[in-house]
Amino acid sequence: MPEGHSVHRIARQFERNIVGRTVTASSPQGRFVEGAAVLDGREALEARAVAKQMFLRFDGDVWLRVHLGMYGAWDFSGDVSVDATIASSNGRMGQTNQRGTVVDEAIMDAAGENSLSSIGAPRRARVRMSEQTTGLDEQIEWPPPPVGAVRLRLLTDTTCADLRGPTACALQTSDEVQATIDKLGPDPLVDDVAEGEERFTATVKKKPTSIGLLLMDQSVVSGIGNVYRAELLFRARQNPHTPGRDVPEEVVRELWRDWARLLPIGVETGQMMTMDDLDPEAYRRAMAHRDDRHWVYHRAGLPCRVCGTTVLMEEAAGRKLYWCPRCQA
Ligand SMILES: [Zn+2]
Repeated sequence: MPEGHSVHRIARQFERNIVGRTVTASSPQGRFVEGAAVLDGREALEARAVAKQMFLRFDGDVWLRVHLGMYGAWDFSGDVSVDATIASSNGRMGQTNQRGTVVDEAIMDAAGENSLSSIGAPRRARVRMSEQTTGLDEQIEWPPPPVGAVRLRLLTDTTCADLRGPTACALQTSDEVQATIDKLGPDPLVDDVAEGEERFTATVKKKPTSIGLLLMDQSVVSGIGNVYRAELLFRARQNPHTPGRDVPEEVVRELWRDWARLLPIGVETGQMMTMDDLDPEAYRRAMAHRDDRHWVYHRAGLPCRVCGTTVLMEEAAGRKLYWCPRCQA
């Protein structure tokens, strides 16, 4: 499932290539024909990501709300421009590294997790934005024939965005959007970070639910999925099973601050980089391979990188939870 950083990246892509333009909207698959007819011919005015949802505003107080869920993805094709800062995003990443590592060129992930940043701006390309990015292949026909079940196609003169497999794709008024957002926990890239910390801390300190489940609850905090959950808890050396109200307040606050640190790095690089203090070679390796950039996620049965104890995996609310029983005792 795409975590918060992916959704923020998608919103940024909309800001660059769709916002400010009039769209031709259609539903090649046929399941969003009426909604597409409402959007057709309107100008996109704003793209907002909150938690794992994206809200696209069109003229006339019409909003499109999209939740990708487990299998949804956006494919961009045509002119797909990349923010000038992306080219140096790894340099910026480097500055967040406490050893001061600065890496000039983008390091591509073997699994294509950060494929978007491989595109020079602007160029003709086909980009799939989801957790399972497939990289690029050259685009010839324009507009491209829809492939598979495209719920919604938004087309400008030069860019095509195809939505497949979302959990939610619906039109809303601004009041309805606000009501949706009000139900979501704070998002460090949307809300004031200090206020978000207070809200998050107050909520967690009231709950008997385990902190491992609370971090995944989008009404408690926005954008955290399975990878960030495991990694944040390890970084805090916090047992995932502790009820929220029993987690020391300072640890709760640190979890929020750490999320506020990691999320922008994910948005910039397209990768859920959760390790600090890497030397340049280790940093390069971590950027290129998912298995080299996490503390415990996806490491069941392997020795903990810190203490050597076998990392455990268990099912929690249907999702795999990874943790070190010694470091997070
Ligand atoms: Zn350990």
